[in-house]
Amino acid sequence: MALDWLTDHGVVFTPQPNSAFRLKRMHGCDKHTGAQYVDVLFQNAKKIGVDIKLNTKVVELITNTEANEVLGVKAESNGKPLYVRATKGVVIATGGFCGDVNMIDKFILDFRGALTFASANSEGQGLKMAEKIGAASTHMNFAAVYGYGVPMSKDKNNRKGWIFRGHVMNLYGSITLNKEGRRFINDDQNSTKVAQFLASHQERTVYQLATEAQLSDFMQNDPIQVISWDRTKFNQEKEEGGQFINKVNSLEECASEMGCSFDTLKNTIDVYNRSVASGNDEEFGRRFMKGQFLSGPFYLFKCTPVVGITIGGLKVNQRMQVLNEYGEPISKLFAAGEIVGGLHGTSYIGGCSLAGALALGRMVGEQLAKNQAAP
Ligand SMILES: Cc1cc2nc3c(=O)[nH]c(=O)nc-3n(C[C@H](O)[C@H](O)[C@H](O)COP(=O)(O)OP(=O)(O)OC[C@H]3O[C@@H](n4cnc5c(N)ncnc54)[C@H](O)[C@@H]3O)c2cc1C
Repeated sequence: MALDWLTDHGVVFTPQPNSAFRLKRMHGCDKHTGAQYVDVLFQNAKKIGVDIKLNTKVVELITNTEANEVLGVKAESNGKPLYVRATKGVVIATGGFCGDVNMIDKFILDFRGALTFASANSEGQGLKMAEKIGAASTHMNFAAVYGYGVPMSKDKNNRKGWIFRGHVMNLYGSITLNKEGRRFINDDQNSTKVAQFLASHQERTVYQLATEAQLSDFMQNDPIQVISWDRTKFNQEKEEGGQFINKVNSLEECASEMGCSFDTLKNTIDVYNRSVASGNDEEFGRRFMKGQFLSGPFYLFKCTPVVGITIGGLKVNQRMQVLNEYGEPISKLFAAGEIVGGLHGTSYIGGCSLAGALALGRMVGEQLAKNQAAP
């Protein structure tokens, strides 16, 4: 539905080879940015005369005295208050809360102190405003967390991070190791599984090891290595290091970089090489075993979990009406997008945030446009 609707409005999708999903089933735009959808929708909205107010922050939901019906919003624009009366309803679409590290530490308990890749604007403002008038929330302890994150800064107080698509690199044969130099998981598992495993073992560091051939296979076949980095930046990191990649000439050098026992690492690699040769990974049942680790150089990647997409948020019914603590709809209050809680259950379903935001936002819009006034 979202796909057809966007296409009808002029968004051009190009088939995306994305081996993270094994099958080529990803719909994306040529520049790999969400801004490409937003630009098209923005131009369409302007064309039909929608009054779009930029740099205008909603600060409060205005209700009747019983607080069971939303009448409009109070916003701030250029330092001045702005009141908007909503005859049909208010749709909260202010996104998630993982851009606020205090909220991560308060709710995403398994990943307190972790990095975040969310936008600084994802502060949960809409959620807090709705809760203030009695809205209920759900699934607040869950978020999309990727095991292979990279800190943006060496300053420990800066918790911004990038996502390295290490789970995709593993499909070209690289392996995942713990800080002792041991494999601990089926390396074909997605990044979320790696993050969950680390959390359940109170561990925050994960390494990956790739041969030159595996890394170049990954780079040749996948357009993106680190989300929001271009190829030049990744190539520079590959050659010079500094952020998270270390080029090592031998397993001795690798063990020394990891701070682990060489004997342990050597044993891990010997066992793994035998599994590759026999085509049978008895330890973890891995299928994507491409290439042995025989002689350097090798590439060592040091990563840590990075949180970013909120999957907890406001409780809604099938019409996307926001519910109160008693499960009753708050009249004329709707929600769509990442602010809605529970759409993914307790584990993030990759790719479904944008689809959910677009499909549900459209559904609410259509509902309100058809009705003279919402219930
Ligand atoms: C790096 C990254 C990669 C991602 N990759 C994918 C992917 O591949 N596939 C996928 O499906 N999803 C992906 N996501 C998630 C997806 O982008 C979001 O879930 C989706 O954009 C949420 O849409 P939204 O409209 O609900 O919120 P947002 O896109 O966050 O928009 C919310 C808007 O509300 C504004 N706002 C907030 N508070 C206020 C306020 N008080 N007053 C006025 N405005 C306010 C914000 O400034 C923002 O413009 C990714 C997210 C990130 C950060």
